[in-house]
Amino acid sequence: MTVTTRFAPSPTGNLHVGNIRTALHNWLLARKHGGRFLLRIDDTDRERSREECVEAIRADLAWLGLVPDGEERQSARFDLYEREFARLAAAGRVYRCYESAQELDLKRKVLLGRGLPPIYDRAALRLSAADHAAKAAAGEMPHWRFLLDHDRPIAWTDGIRGPQHFDPRQMSDPVVRRADGSWLYMLPSAIDDVAMGVTDVLRGEDHVSNTAAQLQMFAALGAAAPDFAHEALLVGAEGKLSKRLGSLGMAELRAAGIEPEALLALLARLGTSDPVDPALNAGALAASFELAHFGRAPARFDEAELHRVNAAIVHRLPFDRVVKLLPTGMSEAAWDAIRPNLAHIGEAAEWWQVVTGPVAPPVFDDETRGYLELAADTLAVLQWEADAWHALTGRLKQASGRKGKALFLPLRQALTGRDHGPDMAALLPLIGRDAAIERLRVAAG
Ligand code: GLU
Repeated sequence: MTVTTRFAPSPTGNLHVGNIRTALHNWLLARKHGGRFLLRIDDTDRERSREECVEAIRADLAWLGLVPDGEERQSARFDLYEREFARLAAAGRVYRCYESAQELDLKRKVLLGRGLPPIYDRAALRLSAADHAAKAAAGEMPHWRFLLDHDRPIAWTDGIRGPQHFDPRQMSDPVVRRADGSWLYMLPSAIDDVAMGVTDVLRGEDHVSNTAAQLQMFAALGAAAPDFAHEALLVGAEGKLSKRLGSLGMAELRAAGIEPEALLALLARLGTSDPVDPALNAGALAASFELAHFGRAPARFDEAELHRVNAAIVHRLPFDRVVKLLPTGMSEAAWDAIRPNLAHIGEAAEWWQVVTGPVAPPVFDDETRGYLELAADTLAVLQWEADAWHALTGRLKQASGRKGKALFLPLRQALTGRDHGPDMAALLPLIGRDAAIERLRVAAG
């Protein structure tokens, strides 16, 4: 059987880091097994679903390179849900209820007051045909619950959490359809997982109790259930579920100069015992992806760590990957010289400006000005060879008696206008001989 996973966002807002982690893990799991990764847009809620969110979801996945092998939309599948629902109704596995939200709330409070679990009492199951007819005549529309099989204990081996057990008697029959005919998430999702041949459902642990109910839905639909794995939720660096995390979207990360490779490298490993390794590309991340390496503790997402991983990634990005993002004219040699100094690709422009000039050197004391004059003269007669910087500084060392910082720093300041930066041996050939001599003479006054 082809391993098939799915990412099933509701298009009611933008994807945040937590959703993206779920999407990525499903993609990695599918890729690891040469399987299929589906995007399923959970847009049964017509009021809240927005087309621009669907487009943003697609764009975010594309930006990350998580290309789905297929896309489905629940709003296009209502006929199928209707048919399956009719089967369940005929088999008595869904039933009509009329309690209002207030009534249900009251029932729950009474049970809790008696120290009992607030489980739906199945009062609606005792309604007669005449009761239903009377409700219909009065214009009362029912909502529908799925009838859990109390004699069938629920158990599965979770890919991350290990053996799981639920007693259906301790669960409320879940509402699957509202009085207006609209669908709640649980049943269409199970129907789709069957219809789309989903073999592995990997999602957040906030869905564990849904899984318990859905396992009985799969059985009622006459289908084998997929394998389930539930990941610990993502928390902020301070260890709490943070508001920021729930809203931190791809657009913001992109604007902050985060590259997709950095997000992939970090999120692929978040929640696992595997170290983050910027050297791994998507294929390698997939090959080493193991559900067994996930822990039960909340996974900490630290934005500072993301920026560190981003810098490490930028230092490795080849020229052809970044060329479109660089200032025009910036060469491969310039990229190679400059990238070790970048936290974000956007900063390349500043260093390219240092290469092309003009630069503003500091004001030097008289002695240093003499030294820079000597440097200009030396460079003027120096054979412009492959390693001009070492040739230049080697001669200056001998001629001036300077060494270390006194030897190097004034040259760097005169040539770049800065105290720090890329390796001068790589930078000097980019600046070029004539411009370098000119800058040294200007600084020498
Ligand atoms: N639309 C559901 C959600 O976003 C999908 C959950 C699932 O993966 O089954 O929570």
